[in-house]
Amino acid sequence: MPAKKIIIVGGGNAGLSVASQLLRKDKSLDISIIDPSENHYYQPAWTLVGAGVFDINKTVRAEADYIPHGAAWIRDAVEKFLPEENKVVCKTGDVYQYDALVVCPGIQLDWQKIKGFKETLGKNSVTCNYSFDVAPYTWELIKNFKGGTAVFTNPVGPVKCGGAPHKIMYLACDYWRKQGILDKCKVHFLSGAGVIFDVKEYAATLTEIIKNNNIQPHFTVNVTEIDGVGKTVYYEEKDAAGIAMRKEMKFDMCHAVPPQSAPDFIKNSPLSDPNNPFGFVEVNKATMQHSRFANVFALGDCTNAPAKKTGAAIRKQAPVVVTNLLAVLANQPVIAQYDGYSACPIPTQYGKLMLAEFDYSNTPKMTFPFDQVKPRWTMWILKTKILPWLYWNKILKGTA
Ligand SMILES: Cc1cc2nc3c(=O)[nH]c(=O)nc-3n(C[C@H](O)[C@H](O)[C@H](O)COP(=O)(O)OP(=O)(O)OC[C@H]3O[C@@H](n4cnc5c(N)ncnc54)[C@H](O)[C@@H]3O)c2cc1C
Repeated sequence: MPAKKIIIVGGGNAGLSVASQLLRKDKSLDISIIDPSENHYYQPAWTLVGAGVFDINKTVRAEADYIPHGAAWIRDAVEKFLPEENKVVCKTGDVYQYDALVVCPGIQLDWQKIKGFKETLGKNSVTCNYSFDVAPYTWELIKNFKGGTAVFTNPVGPVKCGGAPHKIMYLACDYWRKQGILDKCKVHFLSGAGVIFDVKEYAATLTEIIKNNNIQPHFTVNVTEIDGVGKTVYYEEKDAAGIAMRKEMKFDMCHAVPPQSAPDFIKNSPLSDPNNPFGFVEVNKATMQHSRFANVFALGDCTNAPAKKTGAAIRKQAPVVVTNLLAVLANQPVIAQYDGYSACPIPTQYGKLMLAEFDYSNTPKMTFPFDQVKPRWTMWILKTKILPWLYWNKILKGTA
């Protein structure tokens, strides 16, 4: 019998983890990973790059070196899904047939949804750690800041690593405190969310950090425009009656984060959830199987599963996808279940970090035998040293 053909769309954190784990279970599988990028990025370190404690060049490696032995790499971009015919169509026009499909091309950064943002990004004191090219500029701005107004923004809607828009703010404040200038800084957090963190136990710690740093949070605001030359951010904020008011704030530095959604080729495909405003892939949130196409699975940042979009979540989703996909190929029922686990390592100052772990119900799911709401040095070492090593050497190789 010919080997079962599995296509994986996206060779990022999720795609390589799943490919490696599948091959560890069954070497005879015929696996192709479709991804146009010659580089693979370790994005979680970009916050540390922005804070001046991690070399940007250590966050990128050649994709070719991480394609697992036994899998083929097709260097192309998928443009179309034909799930009724079990086919994908690529940008080059090539068409590939599969027995099972894994969809994981990540999330799309919608820079254009904030007017002027893309044009001023990386200059005029406007930065963003969500870009490999621009994250080092964040550190330039923090290091050279002499006081004034620093604005940090967080968009409306889901983003990858929900903590990243505010993690960098705590590190900046700590740096400015150590430089003796924090009392000359007015720090504002303009957030599209309603609270600082969805899990109340961890939110309590962050609320304290915000207070101690004299940060002014503004919740449920929508940043609409950044004028880099005029050093002004424009946003909508609701008044007491719930009416959106257009407001503006002058800044001396601004770390902004773009709104995010499913990549356009997902949004415009039959795999997208028609009821999801961001167009994410429609999956059963426990089994990660597509709700309408039984031989299609999705994981990582592209799905409509209401988990926080992190690499930590992928660590728990990947084995579920692997078990259930092999079950489908063997005509067995899908039984493995994902509980919504995600984790957000939040540095609260240089040398201290709170490892927030939780599930779909926003209940803390602490791994370590101590109270993780308290920021600790050991967790900082986990984030800065251990996790990057684990990522390249274990997670992408399917052994962690
Ligand atoms: C600043 C920042 C800080 C973060 N901090 C943390 C953290 O502390 N902890 C944590 O766990 N997570 C963190 N994350 C989130 C984490 O990086 C993502 O959740 C994770 O990378 C998602 O993996 P993925 O495989 O879904 O997508 P990605 O890793 O983004 O990979 C997607 C892949 O799909 C490919 N692709 C795109 N379009 C196509 C196409 N048309 N056809 C084929 N392939 C395509 C891309 O080239 C890419 O290789 C952070 C992210 C950022 C940006």
